[in-house]
Amino acid sequence: MIDSSLKEIAAALRAKTVSAVELATESLARIEAGNATINAFITVDRDGALAAARAADARLAAGNAGPLTGIPMAHKDVFCTEGVLTTCGSKMLSNFVSPYDAHVVTLLKAAGAVMVGKTNMDEFAMGSSNENSHFGPVRNPWNTDCVPGGSSGGSAAAVAARMVPIATGTDTGGSIRQPAALCGITGIKPTYGTVSRYGMIAYASSLDQGGAFARTAEDCALMLSAMTGHDPRDSTSLERDAEDYTRDLAQPLAGLRIGLPTEFFAEGMSDDVRAAVEAALAEYRKLGAVTVDVSLPNARLAIPAYYVIAPAEASSNLSRFDGVRYGHRAAEYGDLNDMYCKSRAQGFGAEVKRRILMGTYVLSHGYYDAYYIKAQKLRRLIAQDFAAAFEQCDVIAGPTSPTVAFGIGEKSNDPVQMYLSDIYTIAVNLAGLPGLAHPAGFGAGGLPVGLQLIGNYFGEARLLGVAHQFQQSTDWHARKPAV
Ligand code: GLN
Repeated sequence: MIDSSLKEIAAALRAKTVSAVELATESLARIEAGNATINAFITVDRDGALAAARAADARLAAGNAGPLTGIPMAHKDVFCTEGVLTTCGSKMLSNFVSPYDAHVVTLLKAAGAVMVGKTNMDEFAMGSSNENSHFGPVRNPWNTDCVPGGSSGGSAAAVAARMVPIATGTDTGGSIRQPAALCGITGIKPTYGTVSRYGMIAYASSLDQGGAFARTAEDCALMLSAMTGHDPRDSTSLERDAEDYTRDLAQPLAGLRIGLPTEFFAEGMSDDVRAAVEAALAEYRKLGAVTVDVSLPNARLAIPAYYVIAPAEASSNLSRFDGVRYGHRAAEYGDLNDMYCKSRAQGFGAEVKRRILMGTYVLSHGYYDAYYIKAQKLRRLIAQDFAAAFEQCDVIAGPTSPTVAFGIGEKSNDPVQMYLSDIYTIAVNLAGLPGLAHPAGFGAGGLPVGLQLIGNYFGEARLLGVAHQFQQSTDWHARKPAV
C-alpha cells in the first residue's frame, strides 16, 4: 500500500481496507529489510510510530482526519523531534535528544502523519553526496555503489526505496532538489521564509529552507500544504497564511512560457543528462508549453558567492556547539578553553571544520569587505538576473545536477568537484526562489535524471501544477529501483 499515492492511501484508510497501524507496520518492515543496505535511517522510532498510528486510526474512526492522517513519513535528522534522538548527522549531536519539536514536526504531527524515524544526512547538511555523515554514507537504491545525493540523501533514498511515501528535507544550496534528481523522485524547496526554521538545526540561516520529498508532485503538494504558515518563532518566517498547494494541479500547460537559461545549457551538463532534459522539454512542448531563451549572466558566480556566504553563516551558527550546553564533550581536557577545543575537534567532521575555517576567515577583519561584502553584492545581482528572466517566462527549467548519481568515494577527496555538483541549484537559494526537481528519464548506468523547475517568489503551487501535468503524461516517477 505504501507504493500508492497519498490520495489512494487516504481513500483506503477511510474505506477501512487498511489501517494506519498496518501502514506503519508495512513501512517499519521495509525499513528493517532495506536499511542495512541503504542506511537511509539513523533512528527508527517503532514505538512512537505505532502509538501515532493508533491515534491516527482513532481520528479516522472519529471522522476528523485530513489528507495526511495515518500516512507514514520520515524527518530528516536536522529537524528536532521531542524525545527522539536528533543528530544532524554529526558526532557532535550523537547523544542529543531534543526537548521540543521543530515547527514543521508539530504541523505534520497535527496533520496526523506518522513519523517512523529520522533520516541520515550529511553532517550539519553540508554536502552533496551524503558521504559526510557520522553515521556512514547512504546508498542510492538505483545502484548501491552510487551516492543518493545530499545533504538530504537519507530522505530521498527512503522515498525512492518505498520505505515511506513522503519525507522532509532541507535545501540550503540544493539539498532537496539534487538528491530528488539522483534518486528519481520529486522534491520541492519553497520560497525562502515559507517553511519555519524553528527547530531546524541551522546551517546557513539566510539560505536554509525546509521542503518536501515524495514520488509525485501531487503528493509533494499535499505534504507542503501541511508544512507552511507563519511562525512567530522564526524571525524570517513570512507573514502569510498556510496555502493549498494543490490548487493549480489541474491547470493545463497551454501557453506556459518555460524559460531556458542559456548559461545552464551551454556547458557542464553530461550528454546523458542533456538528452533526458531535452526529451522532457519536448514533452512539455507537446503539452502546450512554449520555451523561450533567457539569460542568467551571473549564475556562474553562484558557487563562489555561496561558498563565502554559507560558511560565514555556518561558522557563526555552529559556535553554539561548545560541549557545554549540549552535544559531545571531550572526556579529558585541561582548562575551559581546552575543553572547547577538544570537544569541537572531536565532535565535528572534516567538511564541517573546513566550512568553519572558511567562514571565520571571510568574516575576519580585512577580509570581510574583500569576500563577504562582495559575495552579498553578487547575491543581489543573481536575484536581479532571475527577476529579469521572469519578465519573459512563467517558470525556468533546466538540469538539476550536471551528472547522474556518481560513485561513492568518487568525489570525496576533491571538495571543489563536489561543490560543482550544485552548479544548477545554488543560485535559486541565493535568490530565495522556489525550486522543484522531478524525474525526467534515465541516463548512464540506468540512473535517474531530474529536471529542475524554478518559479518566481510564491510560485510553488504553479511549479507543482506544471510537474503534475508532466507526470500525467509520463511515467518516469512510477519507475522503481531494484533495491
Ligand atoms: N551541497 C551544498 C553544501 O554543501 C548544499 C547543501 C544543502 O543544500 N544543505 O553546502
